[in-house]
Amino acid sequence: MKTTSKTAPTTNRWNSGINDRKLKELICEIGRRVYGKGFAAANDGNLSIRVGENEVLCSPTMICKGFMSPDDICAVDLEGNQIAGQKKRTSEILLHLAIMKARPDVKAVVHCHPPHATAFAVAGEPIPQCVLPEVEVFMGEIPIAPYETPGTQKFADTVLPFLKGTSCVILRNHGTVSFGKTLEEAFWKTEILDSYCRILMLAQQLGRVNYFTQQQTNELLDLKKRLGFDDPRFHVENCDLCSNSAFRDGYKEELPNPKAFEPAPAYPGYLENKSAPSGTAGDIEGLVKAITDQVMQAMAAKS
Ligand SMILES: [Zn+2]
Repeated sequence: MKTTSKTAPTTNRWNSGINDRKLKELICEIGRRVYGKGFAAANDGNLSIRVGENEVLCSPTMICKGFMSPDDICAVDLEGNQIAGQKKRTSEILLHLAIMKARPDVKAVVHCHPPHATAFAVAGEPIPQCVLPEVEVFMGEIPIAPYETPGTQKFADTVLPFLKGTSCVILRNHGTVSFGKTLEEAFWKTEILDSYCRILMLAQQLGRVNYFTQQQTNELLDLKKRLGFDDPRFHVENCDLCSNSAFRDGYKEELPNPKAFEPAPAYPGYLENKSAPSGTAGDIEGLVKAITDQVMQAMAAKS
């Protein structure tokens, strides 16, 4: 199972070597999108795809993510030892590997510094929940991991208490990390998050952010469950729908408290299938249908 040899392991690989070229091209393509969206200035950010029990492809250090070629891509084992590639592996690979080891379902990771989400990381402001349907269904609560010096194991371990039921973590005073079954999915989470943070800041400038009602939130969580997405609110008892954190046990030092945004209303925890389907306002049903359509489209595009 374990190998620390200098050459790429040939066993327990999920992809044949033929697919490596395609995966390396995909890392370059998503790198172009990360750079193009302004999510990684200069040589910031890094991307990885797990290709076997003990092998991960990753971007190299000191390279602009918008201008990588497949030959630049490195390979490491799960301890971070480089096993292939001309260039040196990213210094942040330990963060990617910590997530992949803790969450075997995760096959790809994107770390970058998208400006709007990173502004929340710098301010230590929790990202409000119960505002936009897509964010509730695709993302749920976005935890904020404590600050540590980047590139270290200590830094990589900061995300560990926050990995259950989420696919994106804010890194305090640093940036974001998102993950999923594919690299597109991991990038997509960062894109949704940064767009959401931007909308929140714009709405705040207009003077107010309106939150969903309890019933609207329950309906979105019902939909999320039906679609097979996980959410920490499905697991944690006595967790408000929108206000207190489902990750509160993970915050050892301080629970981030809203200062810039008005606190979300306190609703009792998620009640499965308790959202009244009859007598529901037509606009809510329309909303749920619109999200279902979007989710189905996104899933069809992925497959
Ligand atoms: Zn970084």
